Amino acid sequence: MDIADLQPVDAAVVPRFAGIASFMRLPVVASAAGLDVALYGLPWDGGTTNRAGARHGPREIRNLSSLMRSGHHVTGLEPFSVVKAADVGDVSVNPIDLLDSLKRIEAGVAEIVAAGAIPLGAGGDHLCTLPVLRAVAKHRPVGLIHFDAHSDTNDTYFGDNPYTHGTPFRRAIEEGLLDPHRFVQIGIRGSIYDRDEHAWAKDQGVRIVYMEEFVERGPIAVIEEAKTIVGDGPTYVTFDVDSLDPSMAPGTGTPEIGGITTREAQLMLRRLESVDIVGADVVEVAPPFDVQGMTALVGATMMFELLCVIAARREKLGRR
Ligand code: MN
Ligand code: MN
Repeated sequence: MDIADLQPVDAAVVPRFAGIASFMRLPVVASAAGLDVALYGLPWDGGTTNRAGARHGPREIRNLSSLMRSGHHVTGLEPFSVVKAADVGDVSVNPIDLLDSLKRIEAGVAEIVAAGAIPLGAGGDHLCTLPVLRAVAKHRPVGLIHFDAHSDTNDTYFGDNPYTHGTPFRRAIEEGLLDPHRFVQIGIRGSIYDRDEHAWAKDQGVRIVYMEEFVERGPIAVIEEAKTIVGDGPTYVTFDVDSLDPSMAPGTGTPEIGGITTREAQLMLRRLESVDIVGADVVEVAPPFDVQGMTALVGATMMFELLCVIAARREKLGRR
């Protein structure tokens, strides 16, 4: 498909409130074939242990993403002129069967990866990222830059259940999908189940940047360290919207006060241009808890920031 056919609907021709809502007003296409970046939805929250609703995230993020324009105001980059991007729809899910959903999500993302496109997903709860990583990291472990209030490296819940949105990254390390020495978590805070809750992750080599350290050192020092940790290798970026302060992102299932600001998050994402991002997602936007779509707008904007750094890297490599 020609890049000229993969442009967002022009808001000067069709107003932003009109038409069918797709990510960034991009064309909706049947497959990722020929794309550089495939934007897709993960409408599933079967891993949620408390306040469900992230299954509705992709649709609301699509709606609010109509506010994105075609250029980035800091870099001047116009991502849709650099990468072939489109909305490939939602992966298939099964709202009443967790294990079946994990298989469906993995299969859906595997199609995107097989087509040679970078999957850029909108969740869904954070358990969605496990089957995504099973597809993205099938042939080699990847590094991970993980924005979250929570470590999501717990072992089991409700007896011996290994799959909830509090466990995906423990499973991913166990399955060899993540290199724990190239894994950094930013924004961790909130009350814990027990004092050793993060001991397992730390023992594996995961670098945890708690919120207090983040405040002390600032977003730029922290993200520069994160870039050193993931290095030049293939890296996934996962952005749990609850990493942000709930005053700026209230529409989420597990809010924790004292979080990252949207501006700090943007500053950090904008510095990821040098990272070899092989996939990314924004998760845990839960519209039933949202206020006037503000969290969905945050989700859409963080997806745009991620798309822009992916495109910036492509542009730079293409110029070589
Ligand atoms: Mn999470
Ligand atoms: Mn979280």
